[in-house]
Amino acid sequence: MISRRVAVIGAGAAGLVAARELRREGHVVVVFEKEDQVGGTWVYTQEVDSDQLGVDPSRVAVHSSLYSSLRTNLPREAMGFRDYPFVTRGDWSGDLRRFPGHKEVLMYLKEFARVFGVEEMVRFEVEVVKVCLVENNKWKVRSKKRGDGDIILEEVFDALVVCNGARHAQPHVADIPGIDVWPGKQMHSHNYRIPEPFRDQVVILVGNSFSAADISRDLACQVKEVHVASKFVADVTYEKQPGYDNMWLHSMIESAHEDGTMVFRNGRVVHADVILHCTGYKYDFPFLETNGIITVDDNRVGPLYKHVFPPALAPWLSFVGIVWKVIPFPAFELQSKWIAGVLSGRIMLPSQQEMMEDVKAFYSTLEASGKPKRYTHNMSDSMWYFFAVCLLFLLSISSSYVLQYEYNNWVAALCGCPGYGEWRSQMVYATVKNKSIRPETYRDEWEDEHLILEAQEEFIEYTS
Ligand code: FAD
Repeated sequence: MISRRVAVIGAGAAGLVAARELRREGHVVVVFEKEDQVGGTWVYTQEVDSDQLGVDPSRVAVHSSLYSSLRTNLPREAMGFRDYPFVTRGDWSGDLRRFPGHKEVLMYLKEFARVFGVEEMVRFEVEVVKVCLVENNKWKVRSKKRGDGDIILEEVFDALVVCNGARHAQPHVADIPGIDVWPGKQMHSHNYRIPEPFRDQVVILVGNSFSAADISRDLACQVKEVHVASKFVADVTYEKQPGYDNMWLHSMIESAHEDGTMVFRNGRVVHADVILHCTGYKYDFPFLETNGIITVDDNRVGPLYKHVFPPALAPWLSFVGIVWKVIPFPAFELQSKWIAGVLSGRIMLPSQQEMMEDVKAFYSTLEASGKPKRYTHNMSDSMWYFFAVCLLFLLSISSSYVLQYEYNNWVAALCGCPGYGEWRSQMVYATVKNKSIRPETYRDEWEDEHLILEAQEEFIEYTS
């Protein structure tokens, strides 16, 4: 097997497991991490961006998007890496809940880094400012150590693995007619931390995903009113939320006005103090220079073969963590094994032309099925149809985990390792179903005990 000198950008969950897999395969690895600890998005901070809407490119930006009350939206059994389950070990006295708070995830990732000796590969407080191709398909990495002023270090690596958490790097905000003259405060959920600053205010949340569901409930106990605007409900929708006398679900906002009001498509008019955009993110690789080979177009990072390798630059450039609507850590683990094996020559990639044809065929399938470009890396097969043609809710969710399951098993087969136990995707399906039945309590009440037992049987191999 050939050993390469590989640069990994980022020491979040993706970078940690990438570094571990690369070293296991015999490569020499340097992990660049701009912060002073591992964990990436799981490092909670009270700090927020200097521009809380997150659109000013010159803003002072923080990396993490966590809010103080955040608990995982996946059960810990499903969430962890395959060979290092996210279970409590020994006399661990942390957060023992099945859906723990964010601190517990950070502790888990730190422990992972320690147990597998990943930390010793990390250069902390070193930001990669630019990477570009040099001769013989090698990569020149320019980096800057915090506190060292303008001193730039340049090094050449055989390969580059990008794990910069690009999926949550750049806030995306909703386009609301009239917003420029609306006098209230706007911010993105990336910069939401605690509800207290919003006391007695009227807050409109735009979006209806996991963050919006959590943040609206977090806010409801402090604010005067919470209004959630969703583009996935009928235009007439105006529903008081069960269990709350100050929270409503609306259809989307139609217009914003100079007098501080917002008009919804359902005709309701609300005088609001704050708009909180829970509208996701745009991929961003500010350091990556590929002469136009890799582009981000309407949130499609491409061209990428199976969301990992750009055909023209493979295997010397690869990405971990571009896929979404997945169980992230195990998916990162498999993608990392694949990259490590390809770089050592143990696993073969198809030719550049074959990979490109595969990408084109994939794009054509997306187009034919009416999926917009921005759903390219969404691994939930039918969510788009669900919203588009209002298929049965549970039917949609059940099939939404099939795609990532197939993808993971396809990658696992290439790597010559066993696929994921089916319990994992069944558990996620059970969680999503449980959330739809018990939106307030799904993290504390469940009915999938049998799947927990199946998971524990698998974990014995790694924990005993
Ligand atoms: P990150 O964790 O973002 O790590 C990227 C790292 O790269 C950071 O440490 C950053 O400092 C570093 N970096 C970036 N640019 C540079 C540079 N130029 N030079 C050097 N270093 C750089 N997943 C779950 O499994 N369960 C959940 O319950 C869950 N909840 C979530 C809730 C929220 C609010 C968010 C935003 C995400 C959630 N996720 C959840 C998804 C989560 O993003 C993934 O689990 C995972 O942690 C992402 O890891 P990553 O390594 O790809 O990115």
